[in-house]
Amino acid sequence: MIILLFGPPGSGKGTQARLISEWLSVPSLSTGDMLRSEARQDSDLGRKIRETLAEGRYVSDEMVNVIVLQQLERNPASGLVLDGYPRTVRQAVYLENALLERGFPPPVAVHLDVPTEQIVERLSSREQCPACRRIFNLLQQQPRSPGVCDDCSGSLVRRDDDKPDVIRERLHTYHELTGPVLAHYTGANYLPLDGNRKPDAVFRDIQVSLDPFHKRWIADR
Ligand code: AMP
Repeated sequence: MIILLFGPPGSGKGTQARLISEWLSVPSLSTGDMLRSEARQDSDLGRKIRETLAEGRYVSDEMVNVIVLQQLERNPASGLVLDGYPRTVRQAVYLENALLERGFPPPVAVHLDVPTEQIVERLSSREQCPACRRIFNLLQQQPRSPGVCDDCSGSLVRRDDDKPDVIRERLHTYHELTGPVLAHYTGANYLPLDGNRKPDAVFRDIQVSLDPFHKRWIADR
């Protein structure tokens, strides 16, 4: 089963991807996490990705398509929860063909809607564990001990691109390039949800919406 998580930066995709992945035992893939880990490498590619992320732009479609295809082929039985992919129409078309060729049913698209003013507030108070990638928010989802991950005791860090000027650029890129992708997902497989609530309330809605799709996926296997 392929579940796509849409929503502007800071809408809770990473948190919900983790919850869905645990609930359904479907691995989750964040293209952003994969790119950030590549960006930490001292290589030409790492440097190039670092610059792109620092400017709030998107990396090339080709690069993320390869990352996603590798993971898709590694998980043919369970499928994937995709957090932050597809982000452009070209990626959406690529994914559609890749899924068709591999006999996957059409993906289910969960769209977390959050107003822009909330986004800026959320991103400005976000911390992430670089070890296990769990995300915290100092306003809504504080860690039990400040600066320490609840799950693995890693030291929480602020993301380099969660700075006001980069946040503005990321939101601009999202509206310009990812807005049109949403038109690609319509009908019963498109699930728009109010993401402007506490994570557990959003997750309950997601469970109710995804349950019939998951039951069908299990029955058809
Ligand atoms: P995220 O962690 O999802 O907010 O992604 C962080 C950054 O990684 C984005 O601002 C982009 O620069 C890059 N990125 C993540 N996913 C994609 C994608 N599907 N296509 C292009 N760039 C991406």
